[in-house]
Amino acid sequence: MLEFESLINIPTPVIEIFEDLFVENDVKVFVKRDDLTHVHVSGNKFRKLKYNFIEAKNLGFKKILTFGGAFSNHIAAVAEAGLLFGFETLGIIRGDELNETSSPTLKFANQKGMRFKFVSREAYRNKADLAANFSSEYFIIPEGGSNHLALKGVSELLDEQQHPDYICTAVGTGGTMAGLLNNVNYKGEVLGFAVLKNGDFLKDDISVFLEKNFPENAELETRFHFGGYAKYNDELLDFVKVFELKHSFRLEQVYTGKMFFGVYQKIKEGYFKKGTRIMLLHTGGLQGRLSDL
Ligand SMILES: *Cc1c(COP(=O)(O)O)cnc(C)c1O
Repeated sequence: MLEFESLINIPTPVIEIFEDLFVENDVKVFVKRDDLTHVHVSGNKFRKLKYNFIEAKNLGFKKILTFGGAFSNHIAAVAEAGLLFGFETLGIIRGDELNETSSPTLKFANQKGMRFKFVSREAYRNKADLAANFSSEYFIIPEGGSNHLALKGVSELLDEQQHPDYICTAVGTGGTMAGLLNNVNYKGEVLGFAVLKNGDFLKDDISVFLEKNFPENAELETRFHFGGYAKYNDELLDFVKVFELKHSFRLEQVYTGKMFFGVYQKIKEGYFKKGTRIMLLHTGGLQGRLSDL
């Protein structure tokens, strides 16, 4: 297997972005461009896979199995990384009515050589049982790629540049936020933005990943879900449109759009102290961006 870093663009750059809002509130805002990790599959998903793939290789596995929905960025990332690093990949997909052309994500993963097993929503709930049938041949990575090996890969990104006072990230399963909190050298704050409704349970999930209490330098903001996972409204889409007109890169409506919206709102509310350096983690996910946004 080729060295992981040689095939993906790590370390990723950091850029400063400018708005009157930031001047008025005396904060500096930077974006960690993890959307530039790879041309197709960007962001935190590759970070989370890195040590999983290294472990799979060290244990002698040739095949990787994982789980996801029809629009999962994780499924796309595993398919692409499997092809790059020479693993066969199998995706167990939620929904037995689906096939390999049901979504752009599944089509993409299929082109990259991933094979699928489509299971009912009931069967999908019991992933341990599903995985048991394959565990001798396949290295198993959980849904969303979040496990202890993922935390290590994510935590590294903080050391690729000077530490900010705050690092902000979108939160789906909490694996990325836990990874940031897992960096022992980082003394700043980690601010997570839940992209799903009633996200308070994610604090417990993050504690489980970290194997300790939810840390004091962490905060989970749950107001900016816009109705639930993958839901959106005109206010969110307008924010993304205006942002993209002013700046040189894109956001999407599932993760990064909600997080950026939330950070702008918190700056307006005066949440950040004067002189604060805030870094927004652009986790990528642009393969899931609405094309006619
Ligand atoms: C999966 C994903 C996240 C959320 O990461 P978690 O570790 O599941 O919290 C954030 N942004 C993008 C673009 C993603 O694909």
